[in-house]
Amino acid sequence: MSPHSTQAPEANPKKQWSLQDFEIGKPLGKGKFGRVYLAREAKSKYIVALKVIFKEQIEKYRIQHQLRREMEIQTSLRHQNILRLYGWFHDAERIFLILEYAHGGELYGKLRKSGHLSENQAATYISSLTQALAYCHEKHVIHRDIKPENLLLDHEGRLKIADFGWSVQSRSKRHTMCGTLDYLAPEMVENKAHDYAVDNWTLGILCYEFLYGVPPFEAESQSDTFKRIVKVDLIFPSTPHVSAEAKDLILRLLVKDSSKRLSLQKIMEHSWIIKNADPEGICSK
Ligand code: AMP
Repeated sequence: MSPHSTQAPEANPKKQWSLQDFEIGKPLGKGKFGRVYLAREAKSKYIVALKVIFKEQIEKYRIQHQLRREMEIQTSLRHQNILRLYGWFHDAERIFLILEYAHGGELYGKLRKSGHLSENQAATYISSLTQALAYCHEKHVIHRDIKPENLLLDHEGRLKIADFGWSVQSRSKRHTMCGTLDYLAPEMVENKAHDYAVDNWTLGILCYEFLYGVPPFEAESQSDTFKRIVKVDLIFPSTPHVSAEAKDLILRLLVKDSSKRLSLQKIMEHSWIIKNADPEGICSK
């Protein structure tokens, strides 16, 4: 790719963006509510990802409020492991989100291609996620929909949390049922009040999935997955080989009583993270 400007489109926060400000490149992917294109801000040549969402879809699914919330939350967050939303604009039919470009694409693709990740890779991603979530929790944001499809990689292999569609800004315990089945904490499956600790549970699920290639409570049917989650029916296969320290971390996160789950601070101090995670969060292997 040709060299591009380092000046992000946010440099002029008052600017009203429009489609004329961007040169549109190749499609990067397709999501539930629209397509994402590689794009370049015409003046600065800054490379971004432009997400196009059709207003009709938003209205059909009645997610105007959710999208607005996602956009407001994501614009306010500044962390090296959280995908930046630089701004947005709209025309008669579409809404355009100006997003940080994640050159490495979905972590999900990498996981599916290699079957499972090495302990170094897994620990680096868990450490990056933990730091990003600690930052979110400080700002009273619970993500609640952390899953490999929502994790992107930049050109250096650094993890970026994307998609704040289900996140919520809150100081109190929440009651709404949401999220994706395999990653749901027991208190969410049982529709009980939940708080920040749901994200800690998800870190345990992801750590398992990174190392074994499948989420721990996968089952034939939704109701079987629900049952396995509620029972914390956790089985460690004998292959591939995973260290006892990695299993220890998973066991301390997948705890039914949310108040007993390892805190984000304690995850960062866990010996498996200390030994295996890249301190810069860079993971190109
Ligand atoms: P989404 O609608 O957010 O699910 O995005 C659809 C797909 O587009 C994702 O699965 C990614 O493969 C790709 N994509 C989304 N956002 C970006 C981005 N900021 N940089 C690179 N690829 C992206």
